[in-house]
Amino acid sequence: MKASRTGIVFDEIFLKHDQPSHPENAKRLESIISALKEKRLLEKVKPLKSRLAEVDEITICHTKEYVEYAKEFCEKGGGYFDPDTYSNKNSFLTAATAVGSSIDLTKAAISGEVKNGFALLRPPGHHALANRSMGFCLFGNIAIAANVALTQPGIKRVAIVDFDVHHGNGTQALIADDPNILFISTHQFPFYPGTGSIREIGTGDAEGTIINIPLQSGVGDSGFKSVFEEIVIPSLQRFHPDLILVSAGYDAHWEDPLANLSLSLSGFDWITTQLISSAQQLCAGKIIFFLEGGYNLDVLDFGVTNAIRRLLEISNIEDPIGESSQTEPEITRLINELKKIHSL
Ligand SMILES: [Zn+2]
Repeated sequence: MKASRTGIVFDEIFLKHDQPSHPENAKRLESIISALKEKRLLEKVKPLKSRLAEVDEITICHTKEYVEYAKEFCEKGGGYFDPDTYSNKNSFLTAATAVGSSIDLTKAAISGEVKNGFALLRPPGHHALANRSMGFCLFGNIAIAANVALTQPGIKRVAIVDFDVHHGNGTQALIADDPNILFISTHQFPFYPGTGSIREIGTGDAEGTIINIPLQSGVGDSGFKSVFEEIVIPSLQRFHPDLILVSAGYDAHWEDPLANLSLSLSGFDWITTQLISSAQQLCAGKIIFFLEGGYNLDVLDFGVTNAIRRLLEISNIEDPIGESSQTEPEITRLINELKKIHSL
């Protein structure tokens, strides 16, 4: 067995939580998997076995009442948990398998069984709160993985970087009190879910371990480059994590139907290479990507396959969609304010 491979987790059950008329439907992941097959990348990665999480793993971040309610609600056939979040009879099993698989991929990267990884799962997790679903998300996959990581040998600090176009309010709420987890989110603002202002920085011992980077509509490749060079990378270097987890949403692309930031696939790729090289520099390359949003199937296919190529150290990246033709707004003031708030 080659120990230095990129791990992925995928399970057919991730396609069974589905509602075809909803933007967060099974086609998203189906399409990614067929792109990986077509580009002959599936044969280069190490597939890890998926696993259903135990209830007491989900309750690391969620209340027992919510987990039991979600299980029962789905077993009875499901329906809408909240106005945005559907479920069917398979949704609990799907979401619980997403949690178990997130944990196992994280442990595999920590133990060195895999070099790095990409969790190809649904439903996404970064909006889920302790006691309820939100924004297409049932359970906080990445927040649970970060908590489990901190129980593993050699892991004292974990950084989560969330580049989904929406603020990762759920992740932030679930890890808010933990000074050993750094949470950095870039997101369109003001926008759904309404949180993620520059002033939300964590409280008590954890003050300063939440870094929110709210971006106005139209910010794209060049704004993200400044934000990463001046805020994200220096914050990671200062925190010096033993593991980096990434909430990888592809809805900040200019072609995404749900949002208005202007990243291109080349911009996503630049971000990905920065994060991978930070991991190499700070934590022996230990980095795991978790699929969050992204609602244009072409963007998703190329975004995820490009990221997996970078994890595999393959450099031929594809961007057939190109750049947005919009002029980007100036964000120098935002960057200066962030530097001041976070003493960077
Ligand atoms: Zn999103």
